[in-house]
Amino acid sequence: MKSGFVAIIGRPNVGKSTLTNALMNFKISAVSPKPQTTRQRIVGIANGPDYQMLFLDTPGVLTPRYELQRLMAKEIEAALADADVVVLVVEPEFGTDAESLLQGLRVRVPETKTVVAINKIDTVPKPELLPVIKSFSEKGFAAIVPVSALKRDGIDDLRAAILAKLPEGMPYYPQDQLTTQPERFFVAELIREALFACYGEEIPYSTIVEIDEFKEREGRKDFVRAVIYVERDSQKAIVIGSKGKALRQLGSRAREQIEAFLERPVYLELWVKVKAGWRQDGTFIRDRFRSQGNGEL
Ligand code: GDP
Ligand code: MG
Repeated sequence: MKSGFVAIIGRPNVGKSTLTNALMNFKISAVSPKPQTTRQRIVGIANGPDYQMLFLDTPGVLTPRYELQRLMAKEIEAALADADVVVLVVEPEFGTDAESLLQGLRVRVPETKTVVAINKIDTVPKPELLPVIKSFSEKGFAAIVPVSALKRDGIDDLRAAILAKLPEGMPYYPQDQLTTQPERFFVAELIREALFACYGEEIPYSTIVEIDEFKEREGRKDFVRAVIYVERDSQKAIVIGSKGKALRQLGSRAREQIEAFLERPVYLELWVKVKAGWRQDGTFIRDRFRSQGNGEL
């Protein structure tokens, strides 16, 4: 099993978004829950039988903008450091070589974990590609793959090149849930994320979220009922707060995130229940995970 973070970088308009869409099978729009292991936002997931690629939202705009440029370059370099694999997207403009294509980037690209995708090959005759490929091949990149994101040409080769550089490891998100119930899974993750945002250290780690009901309703808001399990009565009191104020705040934050994620309005109902010692109850936890997932296992 292989899993890891993939950053896609390149100058504006080279086809980064088109290429990312061609590679992934779950798009995470607007917001995304993120494993604690990275500072970056995940925009999408490519899930295969023996791999999971998490695509990072790398600030892709690499045009010079005076002082802003330096700050942005720093941010991009941080994202590149977090990534297990970097995909550098370039266009095979006539007469350009690796040197000038790289200069336009203004950030240091970590060559050994970088796959170069020469995109838009549908726009140039083959012979013009060869010198571009050759000039990159002298630079120590992990691989150089000609593709057309638009025509879905070369995507399998690119995926294989990324996979070759992806580290061994367990998937960050449970795969079966992503394939069967991705929305339920992410809704539970977003409620968890809101728990981390709204309460101190103790509460989030003492809770497990279960999506009890998730109904799409014709002409009305989607209905989501979630149960937040805590271990003790005292924790339940904290989660609910005085006159229910804390729970209302949690609910409105979670609802905003869920609506941004689903791109439609939802009615969110939150319940808080005490389940003493749930953390020691393997069956209880597995059942909750099976129903929709709760972050890391
Ligand atoms: P980004 O700014 O790097 O994210 O680039 P986009 O993915 O938004 O693509 C910019 C433009 O290039 C869009 O009009 C795409 O349709 C086009 N484009 C992307 N990939 C290809 C390709 O492989 N061939 C051609 N001909 N056009 C492409
Ligand atoms: Mg884009």
